[in-house]
Amino acid sequence: MSEDLFLKIIAGEIPSTKVYEDEYVYAFRDINPVAPTHVLIVPRKHIRDVDDLTPEDAELMGRILLAAQKIAAQEGLTNGYRIVVNTGPNAQQSVFHIHFHLIGGRQMSWPPG
Ligand code: 5GP
Repeated sequence: MSEDLFLKIIAGEIPSTKVYEDEYVYAFRDINPVAPTHVLIVPRKHIRDVDDLTPEDAELMGRILLAAQKIAAQEGLTNGYRIVVNTGPNAQQSVFHIHFHLIGGRQMSWPPG
């Protein structure tokens, strides 16, 4: 068993509510949602965080954003949404497999907390 929580979710070792998947990406509902839509979009490849990216991941990162676009349409987020990638302690990253939070379905404010 992998020690990477999101690899366990991708492998089905830990249950999740899937909203989208393709060859490169798996997306599922956050267990502790902060908005009516809160989906985590993760690459199937283990990448720890943004600092762990290499140039060979460039296309994969684009695929994640294209998956986000599809999921936002699927979720009916016609009034906008936010995509967040927490990186490191100041951003309070808590799971060390890179993930994109897709958050929507309510009015948000800026700056974030
Ligand atoms: P981070 O704080 O690293 O940016 O985001 C990690 C996210 O993963 C959090 O929003 C948290 O609620 C979510 N999360 C943690 N464990 C699980 C889990 O077992 N299942 C699901 N669906 N989400 C999880």
